[in-house]
Amino acid sequence: MPRSLIAGNWKMNGLSADGWALADEIVRRAAATGGPELLVCPPATLIGLVAEAVVGSPVALGAQDCHPDDSGAHTGDISAPMLADLGCRYVIVGHSERRSDHGETSAVVAAKAKAAQRAGLAAIVCVGETWSEREAGRTAELVATQIRESVPGGSAAANLVVAYEPVWAIGSGRTPTVAQVAEVHGLIRRELGGRASEPGNVRILYGGSVKPANARELLAVPHVNGALIGGASLKADDFLAIAGAVAS
Ligand code: PEP
Repeated sequence: MPRSLIAGNWKMNGLSADGWALADEIVRRAAATGGPELLVCPPATLIGLVAEAVVGSPVALGAQDCHPDDSGAHTGDISAPMLADLGCRYVIVGHSERRSDHGETSAVVAAKAKAAQRAGLAAIVCVGETWSEREAGRTAELVATQIRESVPGGSAAANLVVAYEPVWAIGSGRTPTVAQVAEVHGLIRRELGGRASEPGNVRILYGGSVKPANARELLAVPHVNGALIGGASLKADDFLAIAGAVAS
């Protein structure tokens, strides 16, 4: 079983003082959580600052997006080599908020994931269905297609993480049943056979309204190798309690 990963996606939240305080508290208390790897993904403006807070600690640093190109005329964008230069080890790509807010297709997501891997980062590729797609019985087909089209062929367990995030569960307080999570994670594991070497070692995270109260049961589902956490990652107590649910 791969080592679990508990990843915090801070989204567009936090000014310098908040970012420093949150990262610093997570670093100070990280050792007490036991087994899982901890990752914080602050907004781009805070990456440099948070890099200083986590340096020399077991807490890894990641970003929330990168451009498919390594450099060039792309005003306002940030490349994967720039993130690596700041100390990032991970970058989230294809989050549903980017797919919907910025019209990112799976082809664009794959290009971003490839850029991340070229720069020596692990890409956290997000997939997941909307509520209407689930109601129409299209979850399996949709997630399988997203995996085939968003995950670069030839990925390795060291440079790829997949996050299953049902769009309807993000920030809503609603979560799929344990059986629904198990079904989709099993499907993703099978689909990874065609995209990654050592597919059994690629970590597959569940994301969508994970909280201390539901973490234990979600993290115990087969093929759930950790969590991608939005809202609850902004409170050190909640983030660390979720991490503690893996270890115990
Ligand atoms: C997310 O956006 O990645 C996420 C999982 O958000 P939340 O935990 O707030 O549902």
